[in-house]
Amino acid sequence: MKKNSRLLFDGISGFFFPPRCAVCDGVLLPGTRICESCRGNVKRIAGPVCMRCGKPLSDVRTEYCGDCRRKNHSYLQGKAVFVYEGEIRQSMYRFKYGNRPEYAAFYAEEAAGMYGDWVRRQQTGVIIPVPMYRVRERRRGYNQAAVFARRLGEELGLPVEEPVARIRNTVPQKTLDDIGRKHNLKNAFHLGADIVKYKKVLLVDDIYTTGSTMDAVAQVLLSAGVKDIYYICISIGTGF
Ligand SMILES: [Zn+2]
Ligand SMILES: [Zn+2]
Repeated sequence: MKKNSRLLFDGISGFFFPPRCAVCDGVLLPGTRICESCRGNVKRIAGPVCMRCGKPLSDVRTEYCGDCRRKNHSYLQGKAVFVYEGEIRQSMYRFKYGNRPEYAAFYAEEAAGMYGDWVRRQQTGVIIPVPMYRVRERRRGYNQAAVFARRLGEELGLPVEEPVARIRNTVPQKTLDDIGRKHNLKNAFHLGADIVKYKKVLLVDDIYTTGSTMDAVAQVLLSAGVKDIYYICISIGTGF
């Protein structure tokens, strides 16, 4: 498309589908990701966080959150952009169920701004999204973790691959306790492609709560010869 017709096309599609604020879903001026009032309100994770999972710490004298003190994880370290609460919780809900995959641009820019240097230091060679069960993905139209992964890949200049498949439909993790979660995810993931050329992997997901999903996917990668696994999630639940 020529530049003029491209501009005209953007103008017309912007008229019918105006860009939406990725936090409150209000209509935006073209070229922005979130609105003025959300810009002032949205809370990114700052201050002391768990050295393992990236969750904000309530007790600053410790290095690890209660959850990470209690159990070992298959990944080495993870980071989160937001706490899963308030307007971010609603934003995540629309991203997942409300046909707003375009929010990924905002999440990815925030994630790259906060953790780009950290990712480069770990020297991860590839980004892998936590997979979704195929049938569910077809029904929803997209896997929100994969959409986020692709945007983050563009931001960080890293390839994105999807070698892991979720081969069982699992019940939502939030309905289960620790033991139930582990059992629920047993044999749920399957590695479909050879990824042994990657020694360090960055996993990504939309929401991290207890980490049992992240651990299950990391386990599959470790058994395939990956050495170090890190992750970035858009938001993280506290109180675990
Ligand atoms: Zn807004
Ligand atoms: Zn932790």
